[in-house]
Amino acid sequence: MILSVDIKKRYKGFSLDVKFTTNGEYLGLLGASGSGKSMTLKCIAGIETPDEGKIMLNDKVLFDSDKKINLKPQERNIGYMFQSYALFPNMTVEENIGAGLKGTKMERQQKINEMLKIFHMDGLEKKYPGQLSGGQQQRTALARCIAYEPDVLLLDEPFSALDSHLKEQLLTDVLELLKFYKGKVIMVTHSRDEAYRFCENLVIIDKGMSVLWGDTKDIFKHPRLLSAARLMGCKNISKCEMLSPTSISLLDFGITIETENEAAKKYGYAGISSNGFQITDNKAEKNTIECKVIEIIEEEFDYTIIAENKVCSNSKLYFKVIKEKWDNREENNNLYLKVKEDCLFMLE
Ligand code: ADP
Ligand code: MG
Repeated sequence: MILSVDIKKRYKGFSLDVKFTTNGEYLGLLGASGSGKSMTLKCIAGIETPDEGKIMLNDKVLFDSDKKINLKPQERNIGYMFQSYALFPNMTVEENIGAGLKGTKMERQQKINEMLKIFHMDGLEKKYPGQLSGGQQQRTALARCIAYEPDVLLLDEPFSALDSHLKEQLLTDVLELLKFYKGKVIMVTHSRDEAYRFCENLVIIDKGMSVLWGDTKDIFKHPRLLSAARLMGCKNISKCEMLSPTSISLLDFGITIETENEAAKKYGYAGISSNGFQITDNKAEKNTIECKVIEIIEEEFDYTIIAENKVCSNSKLYFKVIKEKWDNREENNNLYLKVKEDCLFMLE
């Protein structure tokens, strides 16, 4: 199942220009709030019409501005779960799940029962949305989307309406439930953690533009673009000057990093991931930054250390260290951080 999207749409003050192809199972659209994620999904679902471009699902043309093809939403067989998953408040759970199902009464009831079972909603079929918990409402909404077996399921920030402890549980539940669903899933999120856990592939959307597409783990490891690195939450970013393909001066950090591998071209920025440092005793060691600890943030298994860079005192470095490696330290005024070469990534 291949979905390819190549669309443009202009509004006053905002334009969308999105292009990607996916044949992976879970694709994430990751972008800041207001970057055009929902609008992209609406165009795929057929609720919004792009000004130009093409949307294909396998051999089926869903939209083609040149050929003046624009299938109606109900002809596309695409399930769309909105950001605020609106259930019909005056319908019971089973009526909600059955809304839009085709077939005889018996066939519809069979499908509803199957969904109730898969989604652990047995016994709740006669309840109204107002009588359900947030998690149950969400499961109902998802069941309704999956019941008619869409080829593609679009989830628009499916967890944003829930509080964080529920979110964690549901993330696990939904992953489990979606195993029953054979189609393709595209999920929109502005959370890097959700994207990492859910999505095999990612499209990064920045100000209406799809700027990066690729394997999720690769993108997290090496975001390639400044905008993507920021979106991934990378805190250690510096302007850089490349003195040679193996010698990179990080201007904001006051250090020149010597690398083994040659950089492929000239880059304007570089980032270091928060687990990209090694503590050393010798400040003269290659690629080492002299720092002072200014804050220690404790998490369950590790600390995030915020260190002031002694060479460039207006720059801070963020790094993570597992607790047992840090707990016996006494000296906080002199901290020597050696940049691990494979954790330095160049950014355009
Ligand atoms: P996201 O889902 O990434 O948060 P949206 O896709 O909802 O963002 O919106 C992207 C941008 O398009 C926003 O800046 C929004 O203000 C703008 N926008 C959305 N709908 C319209 C519209 N009908 N007319 C003009 N601008 C719009
Ligand atoms: Mg949105």
